[in-house]
Amino acid sequence: MTQSHASNIKPITERGANVLYQHGTLAQLVPGLLEGTTTIAELLTHGDTGIGTGEGLDGELIILDGVAYKVGPSGVAEVVPDDFTLPFASVHRAAFQYQCQRTDIGLEELNKKIVAANGRANTFFSVIVHGTFSFIKTRAVIKQQAPYPTLEQVADQQAMFLGHDVKGTMLGYFSPLMFNGAAVAGFHEHFLSDDHTIGGHVLDAVLERGDILSQVFDTLVQHLPVDDPDYRSHDFSNDPIAAALAKAEREPRRDAAE
Ligand SMILES: [Zn+2]
Repeated sequence: MTQSHASNIKPITERGANVLYQHGTLAQLVPGLLEGTTTIAELLTHGDTGIGTGEGLDGELIILDGVAYKVGPSGVAEVVPDDFTLPFASVHRAAFQYQCQRTDIGLEELNKKIVAANGRANTFFSVIVHGTFSFIKTRAVIKQQAPYPTLEQVADQQAMFLGHDVKGTMLGYFSPLMFNGAAVAGFHEHFLSDDHTIGGHVLDAVLERGDILSQVFDTLVQHLPVDDPDYRSHDFSNDPIAAALAKAEREPRRDAAE
């Protein structure tokens, strides 16, 4: 077992590194409120690191060092323009602290150990893992056109990518259970290989060797698309938010996914 520094990781207030900024909520995607209601340019004023999805579920976004990449159905990452719009994104200013190194560990076990080591099950935090993945399985949803379908209806309209011995970065956010709906409770992780040839929303992975760094937030800024007419008028009372998010966003059990 590698020595872990996780329990020492505390929010850093310099440069606002203690703040997680979220635009929109995952719950909005459940009934198909997929209109792009913020831009990459606007998001980048709130952070240099993050994840999200484009209008109409146009690709899986990952923002690293102030550059936003989109992975669409081809699996290859492309830099998106400043005016690219998104219904949902989480961003922050990177100030990651070293947690530990891990070898030969599956995603589920890795995520469990990250939470156990830092004792932060009720705290928003971000995790970045850079290393070699002996196996990575990602997906990208196929862009939908208005009038938008529900999240459940697009479940089978996604491209899946498998990589072996891939060097890359996995960036994720952990959200406490009580915030399920605003985000998905637990981890939401996106991936980008160093050579940009594979990426997307992480479904499964095996980390061969990598460094794990964490950044803990004590503040959530939840920005809502208050002027979007569909959002303003939508009645969420009959939307199966928890069930749909669990199905669409979480890593499926390995046996069920294959
Ligand atoms: Zn995602």
